[in-house]
Amino acid sequence: MGSREPYKVIRCPSCGWLQVVMAEKTSTCRRCGRRMDLSKTEPLAVAESAEEARMALLRLKERDLKSRQGCGSIF
Ligand SMILES: [Zn+2]
Repeated sequence: MGSREPYKVIRCPSCGWLQVVMAEKTSTCRRCGRRMDLSKTEPLAVAESAEEARMALLRLKERDLKSRQGCGSIF
């Protein structure tokens, strides 16, 4: 874990929304407005660039969609 990967993909613990953040400590969910403590929220992916982060986000969303269609559970 280093400062060379400033982008994180995180999931809102309240509504499950996935988003890319650059913040180190806290962020706010763009969907439900919940404040997320990033020191307690494990990022699903980290990236060095915005492009890379966006690709990771897309992949995670796709996976989410598939798992939801499959058995209805997240994780
Ligand atoms: Zn949310």
